[in-house]
Amino acid sequence: MLDLKMYIDGEWRDSLTKEKRDILNPATGEIIAQAAEGNAQDARLAIAVARTTFDSGVWSELSAVERASYLFKIADHLEERQEELKLLETMDNGKPHREAGFDVSDAAACFRYYAGLITKPDGQTYAVPGPMQSMVIHEPVGVCGLIVPWNYPLLMSVWKIAPALAAGNTIVFKPSEVTPVTSVKLFEIIEEVGIPKGVANLVMGSGATVGQEISTSHLVDKISFTGGTKTGREIMKAAAGNIKNISLELGGKSPNVIFADADFETAVDYALFGIFCGTGQVCAAGSRILVEESIYEAFLTRFAERAENIRVGSGDDPRTEMGPLVSKAHMEKVLDYIEIGKREGARLVCGGYRMTGNGLDQGYFVAPTVFTDVTSDMRIVREEIFGPVVTIQSFKNEQDAIALANDTVYGLAGAVFTTDGAKALRVIKKIRAGITWINAYHPTFNEAPWGGYKQSGIGRGLGTHGLEEFQEVKQININLQVEPTGWFEN
Ligand code: NAP
Repeated sequence: MLDLKMYIDGEWRDSLTKEKRDILNPATGEIIAQAAEGNAQDARLAIAVARTTFDSGVWSELSAVERASYLFKIADHLEERQEELKLLETMDNGKPHREAGFDVSDAAACFRYYAGLITKPDGQTYAVPGPMQSMVIHEPVGVCGLIVPWNYPLLMSVWKIAPALAAGNTIVFKPSEVTPVTSVKLFEIIEEVGIPKGVANLVMGSGATVGQEISTSHLVDKISFTGGTKTGREIMKAAAGNIKNISLELGGKSPNVIFADADFETAVDYALFGIFCGTGQVCAAGSRILVEESIYEAFLTRFAERAENIRVGSGDDPRTEMGPLVSKAHMEKVLDYIEIGKREGARLVCGGYRMTGNGLDQGYFVAPTVFTDVTSDMRIVREEIFGPVVTIQSFKNEQDAIALANDTVYGLAGAVFTTDGAKALRVIKKIRAGITWINAYHPTFNEAPWGGYKQSGIGRGLGTHGLEEFQEVKQININLQVEPTGWFEN
């Protein structure tokens, strides 16, 4: 059994109360680790350390190339420990080895991307009037509170930690209380590569205590949060006290629009991947499939046939295509939504139940679930379920498709499938979402900005935008003729 400690000021520590939390394998319900359960006091300690360390300049005043050299080393260590990290991620989150392996590779690539980016040309100069030279430089924001969810425990951590450290900030990081394992391993690597103590701090504990303290503290300059929209709202309120700089990557209910002229099998295939990859626990999941009327019946039949054939099981089994949900509580939430769908009058086409037998009894497995005959006011169409549950609706024409696609408070992602290039671009430009695909679903790149419109968030992670989220912008105006202004006579 793993004993997971917090990492504060370069030291591995239990929480001040010595409390522990059991961490479970969602495929078996077995306890795999005990994690230090911190509270607001532990968070305050880590915040104070991050504050003092930032103000000392020990990290922010290193040259960019020196900071980059640490990040390159972290990437190397992640790759060296890829097999171990992959197995641990599956054990903690439940995702199949194939997905966990991609996450570790992406995590290493993300560190390399930001290590490279921070040493590239930066800043601007402006041709201003008078004997002046105006220029802009970027500086670190300061102490950054980083709070992440459980669906990509390692990768979501890295999407924040890599740019935050590259930019010269110090950090107080909080993983989800459900999935802390691989982030503890990442901090072991941070220690191994010799990042100065106090720069990167890890506090574990619940969102209501540790997360709330990080969001509220006036010693923290920035919050970068990924999680649910409801929590995002709480964080905005908590962050208001000292007008923190905030970035929010929140939930979604993303439309996947399929026109009759699309390549049929490609559209079905990506639609399956769009919702069932990650067991539907993906913020950008294509959870509302919209299909043009003339192919609706054929699409529904083929999609359901393939959904029923998805091999659901433990992530440790190499044949598994879809793993369990992350926890019992989350499984119950997803099963509740399935009951709500039935009560609302939607037609259940396939799935809709907890899977048992064949060694699945102790795990949190839900069958790939398809609802149709839904209306836009149903909760299963409006609310993020964050599980392997999809609704399929038909549309009449392009205008109808766009109206249905945008009929949501969210705006994270969306896709369109058609062989008509002009139509594809017309429709994508009308969809109010930050991450979109044409004839594909889900490919994600370190180079491209990640984030949502509307209630899906504020700001963008990844790419150059993701670095700027962790930087302040300073203008410096230099007088080239050093003499009095003469504004006042005497
Ligand atoms: P969540 O309940 O909002 O939790 C996310 C993180 O916030 C966890 O570390 C949680 O801690 C912490 N937290 C909870 N309450 C808090 C509070 N009052 N103050 C500060 N922190 C608090 O979300 P989740 O259920 O873990 O994750 C699923 C959600 O994340 C979905 O809505 C999904 O769409 C979203 N997501 C978005 C993106 C994106 O890029 N847009 C990516 C991945 C996931 P505890 O776990 O310890 O409670």
